[in-house]
Amino acid sequence: HDLDRHDLSGVLATINDEVRERFGEGKVADYIPALAEVPLDRFGMALVTREGAVFEAGDARERFSIQSISKVFTLTMAMEAVGDDLWKRVDREPSGDPFNSLIQLELEKGIPRNPFMNAGALVTADVILSHVDEAERTLLEFMRARSGNPEVRTSEAIARSERESGFRNVAVANFIRSYGNLHNDVDAVLDFYYSQCSLLMDCVDVARSVQYLAQRGWCGISGTRVISEESATRINSLMMTAGTYDAAGDFAFYVGLPAKSGVAGGIAAVVPNVMGICVWSPGLDEKGNSQLGRYALHRFTRMTGLSVF
Ligand code: GLN
Repeated sequence: HDLDRHDLSGVLATINDEVRERFGEGKVADYIPALAEVPLDRFGMALVTREGAVFEAGDARERFSIQSISKVFTLTMAMEAVGDDLWKRVDREPSGDPFNSLIQLELEKGIPRNPFMNAGALVTADVILSHVDEAERTLLEFMRARSGNPEVRTSEAIARSERESGFRNVAVANFIRSYGNLHNDVDAVLDFYYSQCSLLMDCVDVARSVQYLAQRGWCGISGTRVISEESATRINSLMMTAGTYDAAGDFAFYVGLPAKSGVAGGIAAVVPNVMGICVWSPGLDEKGNSQLGRYALHRFTRMTGLSVF
């Protein structure tokens, strides 16, 4: 793709102006008390090209908890750890249900529909606990290497807040456990899950961290192959079909990029072979995706023609 014909800085400046006009839209995720305190009038966006050039706008250097964006990275680790055996324990179909839904688990006997719903992420967390030594430490090192930022860390305060309010996740984990599809102690799985969700990063960190998905498995930040080209293609496919839960169809329609959202308002997106993107704005729509983040990605693909469609 010929990026040179786009004025990427100009595109970001235009989007930033448009989004700031719309501040106030959406609602912060208040079911996690630590997230309810974040102001609505924040917007950041960062692009990192294959060559490593960074373009940024707005609050792209303000940190937020990556929440469910972390599911992309734990999926990567779980795929590396057990290969295709992973797909015996989690499916790869879009759900059409909210991220924290329990409903399909009974019908499908404890096999979550995809790795990006909370249910599926709890299974990938369990796989990591079984197969990766010092799982939390290893994930942290993975994120530092992908982002090139040694300051990446988890927020203990957010992890604690999630633990104290995570009644639904406790139910989901126990329900899966009842079908034998969690092998570790339920609390250990939940603790690992809360710590991955509580990783603090900014838009530039996240846009760098998805480089390996924009570069067929190669991480230009650390100069290492993270996963095979086939695995990178598969993860991008899952982000397209399930990365934004029951809004994945809507995202394909309005945005047209593999994307993974989190309830703190971050969305990571990938233009395969071209760039990694992150947008962040805390106000969520009713499906739990950043409302202004989605708008920004929509404007971006329309202004640049970079939708995969
Ligand atoms: N930690 C959040 C939860 O478990 C993550 C959900 C999300 O980002 N969609 O509810």
